Amino acid sequence: MERETLEFDVQFVGAGPAGLAGAIHLARLIANHDAAVAGGGPGKAIGETNIAVLEKSAEVGHHGFSGAVMDPRAMAELLPDWRERGCPVASDVTSDDVYIFSEGGKFRLPFLPPALNNHGNCIVSLGDVTRWMGGIAEELGVLIATETPAQVPLMAGNQVLGVRTGDKGVNKAGEHKGQYQPGADCTAKLTVLCEGPRGTIAKQLEKTLASRPANSPRSTRPA
Ligand SMILES: Cc1cc2nc3c(=O)[nH]c(=O)nc-3n(C[C@H](O)[C@H](O)[C@H](O)COP(=O)(O)OP(=O)(O)OC[C@H]3O[C@@H](n4cnc5c(N)ncnc54)[C@H](O)[C@@H]3O)c2cc1C
Repeated sequence: MERETLEFDVQFVGAGPAGLAGAIHLARLIANHDAAVAGGGPGKAIGETNIAVLEKSAEVGHHGFSGAVMDPRAMAELLPDWRERGCPVASDVTSDDVYIFSEGGKFRLPFLPPALNNHGNCIVSLGDVTRWMGGIAEELGVLIATETPAQVPLMAGNQVLGVRTGDKGVNKAGEHKGQYQPGADCTAKLTVLCEGPRGTIAKQLEKTLASRPANSPRSTRPA
């Protein structure tokens, strides 16, 4: 069976808040640049750019831990009209209290430790927020490919050409089932890893490219 090859200009691996924010921001930067050039501004138009987000779960938002306190500053920078666009906020935080619970009852702390002050933040479901961001990315022409787990990086020497996605239709013993389908080779001029912590591709590239930045906390640990 032939392995499919998909070519993108830029691909983000992982449709969490990081991957989707990156795709939305890039699509808008290109659109704004091209509009400015069309209006007589400097530079050349970039033109149609294929931006993709590869997501291993069946739907955007399925792997987002639900129930989160969101500091809205980054969202407001990304999408200044995030409220008007209907970002799914369950509630704004209007007051904070810290309770200590014990077998005998509860005790309210008479002060609020600064680290636990969430005034001005929002209570959201991360799954709902990422689903909503996915819709905005798609409106901007970004392709979101769900059920597409990046499994191994595609390399040419030290250059990352893209990722190979996992095969479908393989049983636990590694045997091919009737509906076997080999994973696709997804190549791009730029592959951005947004897998969350301990990503499948990131872990492999850390070994092959020693790509962990020098200021990363883990890289400062003794071997
Ligand atoms: C229990 C818990 C509670 C938290 N509570 C809060 C909170 O209240 N407030 C807050 O601000 N933050 C909270 N966080 C942190 C927050 O969830 C993360 O900072 C944020 O989700 C990171 O976003 P991300 O896009 O980098 O990664 P993720 O949200 O982890 O998204 C990664 C995405 O990539 C996909 N993916 C991973 N690997 C691959 C692959 N190889 N191929 C294709 N797709 C892949 C995953 O399915 C997922 O959709 C909490 C985290 C945890 C674990």
